[in-house]
Amino acid sequence: MTILFNDQLIARDEARVDVEDRGYQFGDGVYEVIRVYGGHPFCLEEHLDRLERSAREIRMPLPYSREKTEHLLLQLIEADHLKEGYLYVQITRGVAPRDHAFPSKSEPVLTAYAVESQRPTDLMKNGIRAITQEDIRWLRCDIKSLNLLGAVLAKQAAVDAGAQEAILHRNGTVTEGSATNVFIVKDNTLWTHPANHLILHGITRAVTLKLAEKEGIPVREEAFSLEDLRSADEVFITSTTKEIVPVVAVDGIPVGTGQPGLVTRKLQQAFEQKIGVSV
Ligand code: PMP
Repeated sequence: MTILFNDQLIARDEARVDVEDRGYQFGDGVYEVIRVYGGHPFCLEEHLDRLERSAREIRMPLPYSREKTEHLLLQLIEADHLKEGYLYVQITRGVAPRDHAFPSKSEPVLTAYAVESQRPTDLMKNGIRAITQEDIRWLRCDIKSLNLLGAVLAKQAAVDAGAQEAILHRNGTVTEGSATNVFIVKDNTLWTHPANHLILHGITRAVTLKLAEKEGIPVREEAFSLEDLRSADEVFITSTTKEIVPVVAVDGIPVGTGQPGLVTRKLQQAFEQKIGVSV
């Protein structure tokens, strides 16, 4: 495995995290996960837009221009001959003596690497089980920050319950999944939480909404309740690595017929057309 460490490509064994890196001590940094299909990054501009926005929102400078970052990521894909998989890219505020306030002097540290992985076609076909969990995260979930403890605890609760994802809610209003956006279908209309500070503005969410529009599926970017989730005809989640995955049971109760629904299938097919593959 090759590591992109700042602007250098180095071997995995040579990569070292400084104990005073603020990403390590405070989670003071931002990240992206970018899907690679057939050796090409998918929605690269959208991911870099979001990376720049996340960095701006935490008042952190980025180490390189957009062009240089793009060039480095393409070099990384090439170095590891990555065809199917994803890039993990993180940038921290850098290394400085431990103090919560920003250091007066620090250089951001970029780390990235490529992971080979196949599209989760079994999950796409058969769906997953989800549980519901209270959303205990902070109020800036739109920032893709390294602070993921809320997501980690929610996902572990799902795994402990024999499920694959935790659907989060704030006082009965569904926000998103621990690492995915959540959609429901009710009376052939697609519902998903609006892109505000309570959810990550998923790239796959945005792609899905565009595909729904193209397919003539009515869309409502409006908050919906746990009761709406439980009585939905269809539920699905979206993310860079999962694409569109049906949720066939919530808290052990089947969603609709207990099988992936027609609207979900239609959107999966449209998504596959967009990325140029078929299962
Ligand atoms: N919400 C959360 C909390 C996430 O962690 C992710 C995955 N990074 C998503 C939604 C999906 O976003 P994307 O489609 O950009 O991967």
